[in-house]
Parts: sequence; structure tokens; C-alpha cells
Amino acid sequence: MNRSYIGGDWVEGKSVLKNLNPSDINDCVGEFECIDQSQTNEAIQVASDATTDWQEIGIHRRAEILDSIGSKILERKDELGTLLSREEGKTLPEGLGEVERAGHIFKFFAGEAVRISGSSMDSVRYGVDVEISREPLGLVGIITPWNFPIAIPAWKIAPALAYGNTVVFKPAGLVPASAHALTEIISESGLPSGVFNLVMGSGSEVGAAIVESPLISAVTFTGSVETGRDVLVKTAERQAKVQLEMGGKNPLVILDDADLDIAVECALNGAFYSTGQRCTASSRLIVTSGIHDHFVTRLVERMEKMKVDHALEPGTEMGPVVDETQLKQDLEYLEIGRSEGAEIVSGGIQLERKTKGYYLAPTLFTETSNNMRINQEEIFGPIATVLKVKDYEEALSAANDTSFGLSAGICTNSLKYSRHFRHKSEAGMVMVNLPTAGVDYHVPFGGRRNSSFGPREQGQAAAQFYTATKTAYISS
Ligand code: NAD
Repeated sequence: MNRSYIGGDWVEGKSVLKNLNPSDINDCVGEFECIDQSQTNEAIQVASDATTDWQEIGIHRRAEILDSIGSKILERKDELGTLLSREEGKTLPEGLGEVERAGHIFKFFAGEAVRISGSSMDSVRYGVDVEISREPLGLVGIITPWNFPIAIPAWKIAPALAYGNTVVFKPAGLVPASAHALTEIISESGLPSGVFNLVMGSGSEVGAAIVESPLISAVTFTGSVETGRDVLVKTAERQAKVQLEMGGKNPLVILDDADLDIAVECALNGAFYSTGQRCTASSRLIVTSGIHDHFVTRLVERMEKMKVDHALEPGTEMGPVVDETQLKQDLEYLEIGRSEGAEIVSGGIQLERKTKGYYLAPTLFTETSNNMRINQEEIFGPIATVLKVKDYEEALSAANDTSFGLSAGICTNSLKYSRHFRHKSEAGMVMVNLPTAGVDYHVPFGGRRNSSFGPREQGQAAAQFYTATKTAYISS
């Protein structure tokens, strides 16, 4: 049974939900107990009360604890990766890779905990010194989605703790087992009780309690644009610090001079790995006319060889869609695309496998225009579109013609175009001859427009969100 963890105890919930394996819905990964709003408020109180203890424990001990969490995650990589793939549906290599990344994130922020620094300078008033320092915020509320069940929690929990904050963490309901396993590791790390709390339950009850509590100084949220906007409005009302990471509709531009092998692999990886359920997925492939037909033929050949199966089956390249609701949404977008006049050149069908799961063939639309809904709305599934354009200028303009701005890529051998694209792309992250997905943990992550709001996540940039700046003036 997966339970919430509050004030150092595993706490019984008010209702029980089943956690089903999307690769095999007859496999129940486990059950988890949902707590209610008043239990969430208790967790918030406990975490708020623990802030002084955690700040006073000192940076060396904080670093040791974070490092030990990272080591434990890496030691348990095989077990955690298998669990993650079983409950979320990404392939085992993807699950293992994600767990490894979570371990490295904790280790990175263990180092950052002892590198918290400020600066000092002369005041414009002679004889006065100015010292600028970073201080913890207090209690941070963390709300995460289902698609990276351990990496996203890690990249929020680790910096929150490293910079001296206490935490109330609410994972998505589809991935309670990974959250529980991560919490188990954190609970055994020597962290004082109350510093880290796991609250499992619905967004409308548990999530809302976090967003609305005056005891929570800052809320970091990753999820859909719709929920993110709600979080933004509610945190703005009480002037809490907020950071939002939301959707994407990421373009991958392929120019006539691109290396075709690289372009096809970038598109395949970016669009279909993790079943296309990545905020950074290359869901719009913008291809210039000279290479268009070769590219589509080669990509389709590669897509049709892709092994779509149970996430834990050896050799599987793409697992199932995460659940029935998401599958329904994907199927609706197939209809929307068809009704808009786009053509499906590969996929577009549900697949049956030995086990009953939510399998959808990787799907490619051609004959699209950029104003179609399938080119403007985030689908969040294994569905990509191809937009044929005349030249680089038209490709750049289409790439930027979106309400999102998370990641953008270009495949080209031209220094001139790759440089121009890096400067003129209106996305937060730009990839050259690489898929739009796949980012490092030690550098800033985030986007523009509807994709993100607030300071960047990860790397040293995380300090901007998880700390408050203090300016002190000292005269002798
Ligand atoms: P979601 O918005 O449905 O849920 C995200 C989290 O918010 C969940 O924990 C949910 O329980 C909680 N929540 C729901 N209603 C709430 C409320 N009223 N108040 C507070 N919390 C509430 O998103 P999802 O379906 O879990 O995840 C998919 C989305 O996440 C996609 O849009 C994807 O693009 C986005 N995503 C973005 C990034 C990024 O870094 N930009 C990364 C991964 C996923």
C-alpha cells in the first residue's frame, strides 16, 4: 500500500485507488491511499514548523543527506526503473535512464548546497559596505505530472532542500509508486522529520490546499497549461512565488542540406520516444521541400519497424500510452487531423499485444498547414505532423508561429542557418542536429510563452526560484 508521509510517519488516507500498468491493465502495480484537504493542511503545518531546524542544520549536513539520497537512488536503479516503467509505460531503458538522472540531480544539488554564495561591494555612500546574499524561502509546495515520475520530483525536491527549504510534495495520481519509493529513500536519509512530506490525493483537494495555503512561500508546478493557469491565478492572489512548467508544441526544422540519417533519428527519437509523452517532444516536423519526400519515406520506414509493446519486454522501442483518458485524447486528435484534411501516412491505429494495454501505433500526419489544430495544440501522444515549407525563412516563421516556446530544433549542415536559428528561435531551448527532447541536469531548463512562467529550473539557475535575495548595508 502506498501512503502519504507526513511529519516522519506513513499516514493512512481516506480513500483507496488502484494503480494499473498501462502495458497490461490486468497487472495492478499496487494501491495507494488518498488523503484529504485537512490532512494536507496538517502536512503543511508540520513542514512549516520544521523550517528553522532545517535551516540551522547547516550546509555540510544538507549536502551529505542529499548526496546519500542520490547514492541510494543509483543503488536501487534497476528496481526503481522497472517500477517506473511498469506504472508509467515508458520502456525499461527509458525508465532506468530516468532513475539514473534523478540520482545525478540529487548529487548535483548536494554540491550546490555548499556553494550557496552571494557578493559584496562598496556602497555609493563612502564607508558603507553592501552584502548581497541568498536565503531560504521557507516551505515550498511541489506539484508534479505523471510523465517523468521520478526525474521531475527530483529536480524540484533536490534544489528545494539544498537551498534550505522544507517541502510538501504532491505527485500525479497515475504514478504513486515511484513517488512512494522516492519518499522511502528520502525518509531513510537522516532528514529531520517534517522537512520532507509526501501528500497523495487529487489535484482539486490536495493540490488546491498547497496552492492556497498561506504557509507555503512558493509553489513549483509542472503539468498542463490549464492547471498551471489556475495555480498562477491562485498564487498571485496571495503573492506567493510561483514557477510553472507546462506544455509544448516543439518544432524540429529539417533543411535540404541536413544529414538524412541524423534528421530521421532526431525526428523518431524526439517525436515517439517515451510514447511522445514529453513536454519537449518534437511534435511538429517542419521540412523544406527539397528533402521532404525522402525524409517522409525514410521516417515512415523507420516508424514501421519500431517495436511497440509491453514496456518491460526486451527490445521494445515504444511503450503504451499512459491511460485510457490519454488514449482517448490521442484518438480524438487523429479524427481532428483527418477532418482538417491532413493525411496519415503511418500509424493512426490502436494495436493489440499479448497483454491488454493502451497501445497506439506511432503516427505521422502529412499535408498539414500550421494553423491546423494538430499543429497548434499539444496532443501529448505518439503523433507527429510534417509541415512542408519552401525554404529556411518559411521554416523559421512556422517554428515560431505557436503559443508555446519550450524547445526547438534544427537539422542542418549549414553554419549560417544553425546560427541564425539559435538566435531567432523563440523557444527557451534550442537543439542543433539533436532531438528537441533530452536535456542535461546541470543547465537551465524552461521555455517561453505558454510553456513556462517564472525562473528557470535545474542547474545553478534553480537558486533564483528556491532562494530569496537579501541586500544588507553595513556601516562601521
Ligand atoms: P495536469 O495539469 O493534469 O496535472 C499536473 C499536476 O497538477 C498533478 O499532480 C495534478 O494532480 C495536479 N493538479 C490538478 N488539478 C490541480 C489543481 N486544481 N490545483 C493544484 N494541482 C492540481 O498535468 P498531467 O496530465 O499530469 O501532465 C501532463 C502535462 O504536463 C502536459 O501538458 C505536459 O506538457 C506537461 N509537462 C510539462 C513539462 C515541462 O517541464 N514544461 C514537463 C512534463 C510535463
